[in-house]
Amino acid sequence: MDRYMIVSPHNAEDCDKAVREVHAAGYLHHFEWGCKDEDHTGYAILEAEGHEHAKQIVPWWLRDRAHVSRLVKFGKSAKEHPHEKSA
Ligand SMILES: [Zn+2]
Repeated sequence: MDRYMIVSPHNAEDCDKAVREVHAAGYLHHFEWGCKDEDHTGYAILEAEGHEHAKQIVPWWLRDRAHVSRLVKFGKSAKEHPHEKSA
């Protein structure tokens, strides 16, 4: 399993609905929300099987606007550097 970051925006009037549905899906403890700072977006970093699986965690009516990124950590050695060829 890889780690994915989910960034899922919603409209101000949909806060309750978005939070309720993420809760109903069992993922509320993974999410943090920008709503109290006028940023109506849910943020989560969690393990998933792939992009599609990660996106399934977002309520269906928000999926088109959600952004999912697979996360990796880069170490200090040259071969782990993102732009180095590991030849
Ligand atoms: Zn909100």
